[in-house]
Amino acid sequence: MNTKFKIINAWICQIDGKAVNPMFGDLIVSDGKIIDIQLKSFNEFNFSENPSDANIINANGRVLTLPLVNFHDHFYSRLAKGLSINGPMDNFENILKNLWWKLDLILDEEMIRASAQSAVLDSIRNGVTYIFDHHSSPKSAKGSLGIIADVLTEIGIRGILCFETTDRNGEQLALSGMNENINFMESNLDEDLKGILGLHASFTVSDETLDKANEIVNKLNCGIHIHLCEDKCDVDQSLKMYGLKPMDRLKKYGLLNHKSILAHGIHLKEDDFNILEESGSSVVLNLDSNLNNAVGLQNFSRMSKNIPLLTGTDGMHSNPGQTLRQLFLLTRNNGFTFEQSFALIENIYFRQLDFVKKYFPDFSSLKNGDRADVIIWDYISPTPINKDNFFGHLIYGILERPIHSVVHNGNTLMREFNFTFDDSSYNKNISVQGRKLYNKFNAL
Ligand SMILES: [Zn+2]
Repeated sequence: MNTKFKIINAWICQIDGKAVNPMFGDLIVSDGKIIDIQLKSFNEFNFSENPSDANIINANGRVLTLPLVNFHDHFYSRLAKGLSINGPMDNFENILKNLWWKLDLILDEEMIRASAQSAVLDSIRNGVTYIFDHHSSPKSAKGSLGIIADVLTEIGIRGILCFETTDRNGEQLALSGMNENINFMESNLDEDLKGILGLHASFTVSDETLDKANEIVNKLNCGIHIHLCEDKCDVDQSLKMYGLKPMDRLKKYGLLNHKSILAHGIHLKEDDFNILEESGSSVVLNLDSNLNNAVGLQNFSRMSKNIPLLTGTDGMHSNPGQTLRQLFLLTRNNGFTFEQSFALIENIYFRQLDFVKKYFPDFSSLKNGDRADVIIWDYISPTPINKDNFFGHLIYGILERPIHSVVHNGNTLMREFNFTFDDSSYNKNISVQGRKLYNKFNAL
């Protein structure tokens, strides 16, 4: 651990209740904690300091915030670029059958490791150091979460892991997926790694599996991480096979609690919203993925402010900040006023902080004594930045810019656009395993 260093000349965007309060100055870090914030006058700052001290990061007028959190990722998707896909991709079910459900059956331990390495490196590049991953490798379930955990630990960020249990490959593989969740939650947890019970989606999990999930949720006092009504097929097939809509099934089996994550939540009706609001479970938005799969988008004007919304990427990329910005633009296009769109973004911003603290109570607010988890954006505000206009800067400035530096628990992972560690062996492994996957997938 880097014992003591300074980040100087930064707009430190501290959390102050339900507001973000930017203040200009230097942040002093020691043993993983913020030990002092020394304020300065921005108006007198001349942008010309150039310290050549390894223990000083000069933000040079840039904005410093909390790290981003990805509330729904799929590390296992990361090698799936440029594949030759046989079979139609004309609807969501065919996209699953001809791409993702073929790919996840191929993954072996080494490909899982390389996928995680690729996802973690890209996440850091995007300022993400807290990730809720939803993993699938049905034929290599046993130990898979431990492999992902090792990558997170080695590179040094935090994760909340699960295996997406499904009955689509038969009873035996459903059981091995469930067991991987249990084994991980019972053995691999520490202050940086947490577990949640993973289920694929209502339309691929049987009543027996949900019954088992109920037992585990009660026994381990955990939440679930599941896809909910991403496409209409989840609703139609759940009704056809089990006589209940997905939300009703999750309620029946007692799986909706305040720690549960429901990814997407697109095809919901009034009664579903009511169940959701009562349950305290959170919905994760993944707009780029929804657009790519043409599954539809939420009607945000129908969703109560009391339903906690979070942002993820669904494995499509590693930038949940992009999801937040897309959401702003989409709601504007759908008729929200600027005030309504900003209110939605602000609500999500603070809901996310509340949710991540359920898993990591020490999540920082950028105050004295807090964990030193910070990111610096390559954004120098052209106009004054303050409590009242932070979200305007966020949408139109900050989220448009790349990440300059990343500090996690007082360790500098990225400094002035470069990793502080040698990533060459990761890149080599990713390319070797990516080629292996490419050859196996294309031979199907
Ligand atoms: Zn997903």
